[in-house]
Amino acid sequence: MHHFDRIDGALHAEGVPLEAIADAVGTPVYVYSTATLTRHYGLLREAVDAHRTSLGDALIAFAVKANSNLSVLATLARLGCGADTVSEGEIRRALAAGVPASRIIFSGVGKTDAELAFAIEAGVRQINVESAVELDRLIAVAAAKGAAPEIAIRVNPKIGAGGHAKITTGGATDKFGVPAEEAPALYARAAASPHVTPVGLACHIGSQITTLEPLEAAFRALREMTLALRADGLTVSRLDLGGGLGVPYHGQADLPSIADYVAMTARVLDGLEVEAAFEPGRLLAANAGVLLSRVIQVNARSDGRTFLVLDAGMNDLMRPALYDAFHDVVPVRERDGEAGAYDLVGPICESTDVFARDRRLAALEAGDLVAFMGAGAYGAVLSSEYNSRALVPEVLVDGERWAVVRGRPSYEEMWAREPKADWLG
Ligand SMILES: *Cc1c(COP(=O)(O)O)cnc(C)c1O
Repeated sequence: MHHFDRIDGALHAEGVPLEAIADAVGTPVYVYSTATLTRHYGLLREAVDAHRTSLGDALIAFAVKANSNLSVLATLARLGCGADTVSEGEIRRALAAGVPASRIIFSGVGKTDAELAFAIEAGVRQINVESAVELDRLIAVAAAKGAAPEIAIRVNPKIGAGGHAKITTGGATDKFGVPAEEAPALYARAAASPHVTPVGLACHIGSQITTLEPLEAAFRALREMTLALRADGLTVSRLDLGGGLGVPYHGQADLPSIADYVAMTARVLDGLEVEAAFEPGRLLAANAGVLLSRVIQVNARSDGRTFLVLDAGMNDLMRPALYDAFHDVVPVRERDGEAGAYDLVGPICESTDVFARDRRLAALEAGDLVAFMGAGAYGAVLSSEYNSRALVPEVLVDGERWAVVRGRPSYEEMWAREPKADWLG
């Protein structure tokens, strides 16, 4: 569910007409809904709290990589949401947005020594260790500081899942996590070190997962491992269940609900007396954002193909080019009449700069506005200035009010980041 609805034929974000934002800020531009972010977090929080006996005082840590805009993070932070981070930059962003360090998890396959040291200094809640070699480095970094940070071992349960091979992380050949058969020994090794404090296990098997079965299988594997570790006298008090639950990009009605997902986790963790953590990214943010774009021209070719050339390109929304992702695209102003099928393309000089082929839309003309729905996660964060196009701006709406929360840089600002080599005069 989201808060982008038509009022008198014009698509709005909550109480604000998208046309007004496009006119004021220009296009392309991302627009986020506070109400949708709030609703999604609230549904998850409510479901998790209803299962307190199985899930403990569970942490919900938004995966910052899905949408790292400071105002988006601050919106979630004010609701009590934590942050799952994968770099020093993301930890800094979360802190700057008001997420307390005690609600920040530091994940990632390639944390540098400097990043590990920074996370220890910042006092993050937990560092998720993804390999034996990383554990050794963390122990050395922590020893030098006289610290003993709380860690979880991220297990790769060899259950890959997700909406596309390129967003699967839990498969046997994926780079993420410690192979399940090695994890117990690594956990014991961590417990034997005075420089780290193992508190639990973590997993994250993929993204845009649309059935509960693979998630349940992975959580069962964590449960079994928890029991085995405890039988060896080790303490396991937290289970980090990762993110990965899918959202209805195609308007699917048969996706697992948040309530079903959480009920499943409660069933699997029941009786373990662990504190659970959830790391949703897409689930909270995807439907809370749209990308607004204007039609530059309609190129009806004599071979029968009609290209709708948009002013948004793959540099603004990379998901279709990167992993064949589907976004519903709708005219911002309601139009009558069916056109033929359009190929929706951007202006970038790459053949992968195609958002959709043979998409049936109402007849559109140059200057018309369209909205890419479900663009709030893995949208703006993946944008670039390829083709020297200014970085796409972001707007946050809250009821009747709205604010530019990342501005479009001027060309002067872009060039200013590139000081000329002094010998070039
Ligand atoms: C990306 C990621 C997430 C969030 O994934 P979604 O599919 O957006 O929910 C959670 N945890 C980790 C470790 C991640 O890398």
